[in-house]
This record gives sequence, structure tokens and C-alpha cells, in this order.
Amino acid sequence: MFLSQLNPQQRDSAIATLGSESFDVLVIGGGVNGVGAALDAASRGLKVALIESQDIAAGTSSRSSKLIHGGLRYLEQYDFKLVREALHERELLVSTLCPHLVKPIGFLFPLTEKFKERTYVGAGLALYDALRGFQRALPWHKHLSQKQINEIAPSLRPDIIMGAIKYFDAQVDDARHTLSVARTAARHGAIIATRVSAESLIRDGRRVIGVNAKDLVSGNPIAIKATVTVMCAGIWSDELHAKFDLKAGYQVTISKGVHIVLPGSAIKSNAGIILKTPVSVLFIIPWGNKWIVGTTDTPYTGDRAEPIANQEDVAYIVDQANRVLTPKIKVEEIIGVYAGLRPLVANIKNAVTTKLSREHTVDRPAPGFVSIAGGKYTTYRIMSKDVIDLAVNELRKLTPESVTDKLPLVGADAYFALVQQVDQIASQSGLEVETVSHLLNRYGSMISEILLLIKESPSLAVKLATDLPYIKAEIFYAASHEGALTVDDVISRRTRIAFEAENHGVDLADSIAEIIAPVLGWSNKERKTSVAAYISLVDREQDALGELISQGEKVNS
Ligand SMILES: Cc1cc2nc3c(=O)[nH]c(=O)nc-3n(C[C@H](O)[C@H](O)[C@H](O)COP(=O)(O)OP(=O)(O)OC[C@H]3O[C@@H](n4cnc5c(N)ncnc54)[C@H](O)[C@@H]3O)c2cc1C
Repeated sequence: MFLSQLNPQQRDSAIATLGSESFDVLVIGGGVNGVGAALDAASRGLKVALIESQDIAAGTSSRSSKLIHGGLRYLEQYDFKLVREALHERELLVSTLCPHLVKPIGFLFPLTEKFKERTYVGAGLALYDALRGFQRALPWHKHLSQKQINEIAPSLRPDIIMGAIKYFDAQVDDARHTLSVARTAARHGAIIATRVSAESLIRDGRRVIGVNAKDLVSGNPIAIKATVTVMCAGIWSDELHAKFDLKAGYQVTISKGVHIVLPGSAIKSNAGIILKTPVSVLFIIPWGNKWIVGTTDTPYTGDRAEPIANQEDVAYIVDQANRVLTPKIKVEEIIGVYAGLRPLVANIKNAVTTKLSREHTVDRPAPGFVSIAGGKYTTYRIMSKDVIDLAVNELRKLTPESVTDKLPLVGADAYFALVQQVDQIASQSGLEVETVSHLLNRYGSMISEILLLIKESPSLAVKLATDLPYIKAEIFYAASHEGALTVDDVISRRTRIAFEAENHGVDLADSIAEIIAPVLGWSNKERKTSVAAYISLVDREQDALGELISQGEKVNS
């Protein structure tokens, strides 16, 4: 009945609808929690709209460690309920909701001491495995012999690593997953518009009855009427509370987390590695034929939309990883660096409006207005359900329970059959088997839409660049079906070229703009402006990274 396609025509129609109709629920923010809330509400049969001031997942939801995990560190705090809940979500995502996007991933937990540490870590991992209950989408943990460690991870230093335990968690392309949740919400009728910013609240007495928004493309104001407004603004929550003149029951402090990206050749291992650090843990995570290593945890007060890593962040990551790696990683090997900002919630003393779980908070600072912040990516579905459970009280009508635990995302249907039909799809489409697998792991059953594009324009079957897995059809599709409106949207979030390509994809920006220009109806000038905007974003990031590389000797010594 509804379409999941996001593109300029859909956006135009969404903008018109936002200003002319009224909604049960209006969601502010298109991170994973906002799109999750929109999906939760739409799939309960409610009339829903979502506005996002930048691009879907442009905030924290494209900058995480990309792990779907129970959180081993919570075991040390005896928070078994939280771990069990996250492990339940992990199983659901891997096996039912989006198996095409969330994949099991093995980690080695290296041990530097023979007996006491093995007993302690082994018991922890046994508990971690047991807490998931009877669902078993991922293998059980396993103690490894020295020989097995050498075979799996030759890069682990044999002089200090006395043993290791292999356990499993799951991995996701966070921006792609958030986009898929958004498209699923659209398929269930949610009206979604990016580059629309919430500016102020519309009130009737104390009650909030909507939002005065601004279309950031045209500059036009839009008055959006809704019975309840749901704010999922992550690190922007405090800023918006102040702007909306709301007395919230919680505050959000911001902590920066940085990751570095290395070529596959930098570390020899067939599994990820987790290390305990003095402050937290460090993950060495396989990412296609690259490695993502991180993260840090430092207070942050700078620009929220464009967090940038500094020299200390990178030096810390390199130093921690090099405690166990041989040969050591070198700063000059770093391909990319990205920083993300964690929204950490703290309840305001004596606040009556909030309900604080261990990690996230829901709040009702005014009639007709609720909000949520905190938590982690893995439990977005629970958070979305919690905030919509609170929001529906404002509707004063009977509303069905959440059904998102039974609702696969777009592309998930038939995925398990399609992976067994890769050879047939390859021979029918003329694509390489490797390319078909790559497409299935990004689009699931929606691969059919990509194949249709290729049938109409065979030149789109060609790879964008020889050293990257993406074909040109994916770039076109990013604008025609996935709501990309700029070169940055395509390079940074629809694909991950921004940190996967050696030059951050700057050399590809022109060809990407050429592919998406007809879909977006761009003039030559608009095309150049979008390319220039991406290059200047990279320049700002490169300034920091360039300095680091020149300081490489110092960091590595
Ligand atoms: C370094 C790091 C690593 C992490 N690793 C993991 C991990 O491995 N696993 C895990 O489970 N969790 C992880 N997390 C946590 C997880 O990424 C976050 O909890 C989650 O992405 C937060 O999503 P959100 O929707 O609340 O916020 P966001 O994704 O930031 O979304 C908020 C959105 O609101 C929009 N917005 C702001 N103001 C307005 C306005 N006025 N109008 C309209 N829209 C507006 C913003 O543009 C933004 O898109 C990590 C976090 C960090 C920082």
C-alpha cells in the first residue's frame, strides 16, 4: 500500500503533507531511535511524520563501533538484566529482523596470564552466552590453544599472549541499518522528510500541539500539527530543550569516541580482538578488507554536527592496540579516522517526569511532548517502544501494543533463500558472484530493485572503482530509493567510502555527482556545489589527520 522509496519526489510530497495534514505522532530526529520510534508508531496503525534536520543517521547513528552486542563490560557491574535484554535484541536482529544487515562476528579475548585470568574471563563469557537464553543464532564461546591462536591471529604477540577465548557478537553497518528502519517506517505509512529542522513548538496553553519547522532546502517554514511530539535528538537534546523552553527531567552530557581505519594488511587475524584497557575496552574489528579500531571516551564540548578526532585520540588507540600486536601498527598506515558523540543521560535531581533505565531515559516535560535519550544502538527497538508507549497516553484512544519484534525490516524477507541462490542470480544478471553477495548483504531482497536498474541501464553494472566493492547502480539507487540528497550523503552514509577509500573518496566525488545529478535534477552549478561541500568537509578532517601523520614518528616511538 505504501512505498518505502525515499527520493526527491517523495520528499516534495512529504513536505506538502507535513504542512497540510495533522498527525498522531511527530518524531524529531532521524537517528536510529527516531526512525525506530516512527516505525513503532506507524506499525501500531498511527499516523506518523518524522523530520530530520540533516540526513538519516547523520548524527551518532553513523559513527558507532558498529557492534550489536550485549555489552561484556556490564557483566562486571552485575547488570545482568541489561545484558540479557541486549543479547535478546542481538538474536532477534541476526535471525529475524534484518539478517541481511546484522552478521555474527567472532572476537578473541587475549589472556596475558595462564590460570586466574582464564577462569575469570571464561566464567564471564559462559555467563554471557547463557544469558541469551534458548535462542542460539550465534556459536558458543571456545577456549583456544596456543597453536590455534597462532593460526587465527598471527598478529597477536606470542611473547605476552598466554591464551585466548573466542566468543561471538554481531556487526552492522549502522547508517545502512538506520536507513532500512526509516524505509520500513515509510512502507508502513510514515511521512519522512530530511533537511527539515524543528525550530519551535506550537502550543495551545501548556499543551504542545506541533512544531514550527523549517525546510532547509527551500528555506520555507512549515507548521506541523501533531497530537504528540516525540523528540529523539540524542546529543542535541539539551540544546532543543532550551530552544523549546522546556524544563526537562534529564540532562545529556557528551562523550567523544574515535575510531581509526586501517588496511587489511596492517593486522593479520581471522577474527576481531577485544582488549581491556585501563578505562574501558578497545575493539579491533574486521570491516570488509579493512580494520576498524577503537574507541576512546573523553568529555566533549565542541561542534556537535562535525566532531573531529585529535592527536591524543589517535595516539591512545594506536598505543592500546600495539600493546598486543606484532608488528605494531603505524600512524602512517591509517586510512581514515571518524569521531562520534555519545549521548550520556543523567537524571535531574527530584525530577518527576522521567523514568531512567540503566542506560536510557524517557521524559514528558509538557503535555503533548515526550522525549528519549541515551542507551545504545543495540537496544534501539526497546527504546523506541518505550517512548511510543509513553507517547500513546497523549492520544487518549486505545492503541495497539508494539509489534516491532515480529516485523522484519525491508529487504529481510527471503534473505536466507536468496543467499543460497547467489549463483543463479549471478548467471541471470551477468554480475560476479562476489558482487551479488555484496549486494545481498546490503539490500537483501531489495537487490531486485538494483537489478532492475541495471537491466534498464547496463552501464550501471560497472564498479565505481576497482578497489571498492560498490557498483554504479548502488550510487544511483542511493538517490533514487534511499533519500540521498548530496554527495556527502552517498559517500559518508549510503556507502562508507568516506572511511574505506584511501583518499576519503574525494577522487570519486565528481563521478558520484554525475550519477546522481539526473535523479536529483541538478544543474551543473548544483553538482559542483555538492562536490565542493564534500571536499571542504574532508579538508577540515584532513587538517587534523595530516598533522597526525606528520607527527607519526613521535606517536609510534
Ligand atoms: C564512538 C561510539 C561508539 C558506539 N558504539 C556502539 C556500538 O558498537 N554498539 C551500540 O549498541 N551502541 C554504540 N554506540 C551508541 C549508539 O551509536 C547511540 O546510542 C545511537 O546511535 C544514538 O542514536 P540516537 O537516535 O539517539 O541519536 P542520533 O543518531 O544522534 O540522532 C539524533 C538526530 O536528531 C537530529 N536532530 C537534532 N536536532 C534536530 C532538529 N532541531 N530537528 C530535526 N532533527 C534534529 C540530528 O540531526 C540526528 O540525526 C556508540 C556511540 C559512539 C559515540
